Amino acid sequence: MIYIENANIVTENGILKNGALLAENEIITKIGKTGTFEVPENAKKIDANGLYLGPGFVDIHVHGGGGYNFFDNPEKVAQHFLKHGETTVLATSYTTYTKAEYLAAIEKIKQAMKTNSKNIAGFYMEGPYLNPKYGAEPKMNKWRGEIKREDYAEIVDSAGALTKVWAVAPERENVLEFMEYVKSKNPNAVFAVAHSEATPDEIDRIKKYGVKIQTHCMNATGRVGESKGIRGAGPDEYCLFNDDMYAELISDSLAIHVPAYLQKLILKVKGIDKILLITDSFATETEMSEKYAKAKDLSFDSEGNLSGSRLTMDIVCRNFVKHTNSSICDTFLAASTNPAKAICMDEEIGTVEVGKKANLVLVDNEFNIEKVIFEGRQ
Ligand SMILES: [Zn+2]
Repeated sequence: MIYIENANIVTENGILKNGALLAENEIITKIGKTGTFEVPENAKKIDANGLYLGPGFVDIHVHGGGGYNFFDNPEKVAQHFLKHGETTVLATSYTTYTKAEYLAAIEKIKQAMKTNSKNIAGFYMEGPYLNPKYGAEPKMNKWRGEIKREDYAEIVDSAGALTKVWAVAPERENVLEFMEYVKSKNPNAVFAVAHSEATPDEIDRIKKYGVKIQTHCMNATGRVGESKGIRGAGPDEYCLFNDDMYAELISDSLAIHVPAYLQKLILKVKGIDKILLITDSFATETEMSEKYAKAKDLSFDSEGNLSGSRLTMDIVCRNFVKHTNSSICDTFLAASTNPAKAICMDEEIGTVEVGKKANLVLVDNEFNIEKVIFEGRQ
């Protein structure tokens, strides 16, 4: 049992000043003003000293971090991100993995979820069927060529309902059969448009399967135009235009992935409720090129191209505030509440609310982490 008092509690309806919260058996059971409800004697008391108490971060797109990859060392990665307030993470794949590597990693991650990495909520499959023209490590893409059931069936089967998101390039030939297969095995799976140059018509074609996320909006996406100098509409424009689409956003400190002006544009068009902040973090230890020497939170592939980040969600939040002037409450929506909704876990997590899991972070106004509470325990 845990009791936190003197907190600025971040709720969906704004800040509850001088707030207090009680959690019993992993669940939030009471919220109110400090001093207005009785506190059981055996509760562990925490004085928040006026810091912000918000919902634990939900990072749906994260490949690795702290020097490790999710697909090799899930426990180390889960722990690294938990320390940074990420009480929910999705282990994310990429097109560089072979089928055998997928299958081995899925088993390893399932095992980690059962033991001590309970902040892993499942998988975000970034691939295998993306457009090799967009994104990092194009030469290492193991999934070019024809889409065949014998290649993907085992992966889909073994990840099962744990796969919350499948990212696809809608223009890939036979991707519809793949999506139908995924849906037959896991009706709740959500699709994302990723590393793609699909036209709006091509995306509409797969809409019925449940496409509702654009993978890192305005980053590693294609633009299609009839000829030079003519700008076409692609996945970014589709996401901006369609109200039901969520836009994933990588906000790094120097706004290299997505320039600050474009971050503000995405926010203006989509509204805060459709923004999903992500880290897209990798384990990479690749040396920074001179051009990006000041950007300590970026990651690069073997050819020196920008490839995800070394971010954690606390830092993403700080960057997002800096680049877009968003409020603390809005930033928590984009870092916790919206992603929980996007992966259909909002009945359990994503807000500070009675009945939800006591997954909480205590931060100052720059998102420096003071404490992380996971399932009611510090
Ligand atoms: Zn990624």
